[in-house]
Amino acid sequence: MTNTGIVYLVGAGPGAADLITLRALNCLKQADVVLYDHLANEQLLDHAAAAEQIYVGKSCGRHTMPQQEINSLLEQKARAGNTVVRLKGGDPYIFGRGGEEALHLVAAGIPFEVVPGVTAACAAAACTGIPLTHRALSSGVSLITGHVSKNRDELSAIDWRELGGGNTTLVFYMGLGNITTICSQLIAHGRAADTPVAVISSATTAAQRQVITTLEHAANAVRRAALSAPTLIIVGAVVVLQAQLAPQRNNRCGD
Ligand code: SAH
Repeated sequence: MTNTGIVYLVGAGPGAADLITLRALNCLKQADVVLYDHLANEQLLDHAAAAEQIYVGKSCGRHTMPQQEINSLLEQKARAGNTVVRLKGGDPYIFGRGGEEALHLVAAGIPFEVVPGVTAACAAAACTGIPLTHRALSSGVSLITGHVSKNRDELSAIDWRELGGGNTTLVFYMGLGNITTICSQLIAHGRAADTPVAVISSATTAAQRQVITTLEHAANAVRRAALSAPTLIIVGAVVVLQAQLAPQRNNRCGD
């Protein structure tokens, strides 16, 4: 009988190929099989040139491979004795169903490890000049899904009263299609209409774009700018700091 292999749930970082950890690169170099997402930079696959490479990506509404099949494939490849890397955009445990994959592996008795990655919120904040927390402006940050699932109304499960009431920074992932609802709910639940908002798409890549606006104008501003996914929405007083902190030049160290 073959010995069971191992699955590494690896964070690929937000897009730029050099925003990945050394541990993640070591995993890729050892991999027999790599299952990768559409958000993971494909250049990273060069580090696993000899491995079997399987695209299991999903883009909104178009699921290349159902989650259950991804789970089974991870299990099956590891049971066959392989070192399997599941390469996921950003950090594996921030959205993107990394938790579901880990739970499946536990239930199946497959050894696994999680390798953290730079999540989109941190990356977008850094490359637009928005510290997500600041002693005088925001004592915390929430990472929130802005996605409405077809089966379950996840947005309705959001505690808008809590989010609207505080003054902490809010970061919405997968929220572009629901930006009108997000902004109007926040205003309805207590955030000032002129609260600063940054909408950032494809952070850290050559396609990066951003719109700086306010809650009341965000939906129109984003429509005019025709931003496309992947996009993050950052809400809160810290957004004003980008006027001083926006990178003055393309200072990507890896370039
Ligand atoms: N695990 C990932 C998030 C997966 S959910 C992470 O930690 O970053 C996918 C959502 O992440 C996208 O809809 C978008 O909201 C956000 N996202 C991922 N990469 C991004 C990028 N480079 N720029 C802006 N948003 C990004």
